[in-house]
Amino acid sequence: MSYKCIYNAVIVTMNLNRDIIENGVLVIKDSEIFDIGDSKLLSKYDYEEKIDAKNGIVMPGFINGHTHVSMSVFRSLGEDIPDRLRRYMFPLEDSIVDAELVRVGAKLSIAEMLLGGVTTFADMYYFEDEVAKAAKEMGIRAIAGETIINKPSPDSNKPYGSMEYAEKFIEKWKNDELVTPALAPHATYSVDEEHLRKIKEISQKHKVPILMHISEMDFEMEEFKEKYNCTPVKFLEDINFLSSKVIGAHLVYATEDDMEIMLKHDVGVIHNVAANAKAARPVAPVPNMIERGIKVGLGTDGPMSGNHLDIINLLDQYTKIQKIATGARNGRTSLEAVELGTISCAKAIEMGNVIGSIEIGKKADVIIIDTDCPNMQPIYDYYSAIVYSAYPHNVSMTMVNGKVVMKDRKLINEDLNKIIDETRKLQDKIKEAVAKLNNLKKSRE
Ligand SMILES: [Zn+2]
Repeated sequence: MSYKCIYNAVIVTMNLNRDIIENGVLVIKDSEIFDIGDSKLLSKYDYEEKIDAKNGIVMPGFINGHTHVSMSVFRSLGEDIPDRLRRYMFPLEDSIVDAELVRVGAKLSIAEMLLGGVTTFADMYYFEDEVAKAAKEMGIRAIAGETIINKPSPDSNKPYGSMEYAEKFIEKWKNDELVTPALAPHATYSVDEEHLRKIKEISQKHKVPILMHISEMDFEMEEFKEKYNCTPVKFLEDINFLSSKVIGAHLVYATEDDMEIMLKHDVGVIHNVAANAKAARPVAPVPNMIERGIKVGLGTDGPMSGNHLDIINLLDQYTKIQKIATGARNGRTSLEAVELGTISCAKAIEMGNVIGSIEIGKKADVIIIDTDCPNMQPIYDYYSAIVYSAYPHNVSMTMVNGKVVMKDRKLINEDLNKIIDETRKLQDKIKEAVAKLNNLKKSRE
């Protein structure tokens, strides 16, 4: 029997009653939450490790519901230009993305997430086996989705080539404790009907999630209107693609009818507030989705689009942007923002029974937010403190699956300096690739 506890804690449980326990003790046995209560629990079990939270906030780890972790190596490239995806990102990826780049980028991003209190992320990219391995090595929970797209991609020389990669990848990882393999058709505008049908079949066969960009781009909406006289969401319903296994990113253009459809098929939605704002997209109708009962969570999107990978920053941005959009100061609450970063996101990625709240029997994915910091004092409302006061660097401990993976701002399973060195080396190669692409573009002009 291996018991651990976290004591001197303000436990923000995010359970059904949204209970907050002051002077609380959280007992962890192996990978799970075993007991929750007051200081009497300190003498109840024989602990191998006791962690003093020093009156800090102990809460479920944050969930990053949509990202492309390996793109951290491209962070700050090609900023503030129009139509960046097709004009800049796709050519850059085709010219330089390989397994090594994916590995280094994933490690850099996972380091940032663990240091910022993220305990689970859902990823879409190429060479996804490298992302899965990096997650496992560093001890973070992940849904790893191999991207499938209608053009040759970094890990395949033919359109849709990564379908084969995806099936092998799913076979390899399907019983893993930390990594859930997934299929990631890139978007409605970049995967055709035939392949979407195949993807659904594979997902049903292996019971794995499908991650996909949906209703994100203006050109996507026009294309579907012209070709099918409907929205991408309606199209997906018509081809019988939608189910609770589908986790859609963005949905900034979701209509009232689309939301009805998503609710009917129990589709999960990931709202990427920072990336959408930076790309000048419309504000996603998230309050409307929440009020209807659609499962919604938050995501950072790739670090080239959203730049940060922590969720704490997004909680604040979510409420503020929605307040601007609705013109109501009491529009969205800090509790709602914390829900979107924890339990609601867990439901959106179909892991609501496993993670997202501090409850007995759930996995011990737990963080401590240090409150002995000027920006965290005083606290009259814990949700407000988490949303409006906290910085990612206030997170002092991150535990995933019952194991401490970051403590006192230090990663346990990986040398951060080594990751930074590897990133810097890669940066030189990326600069060369960008210069070549720019020269090519000039020669065509
Ligand atoms: Zn994305």
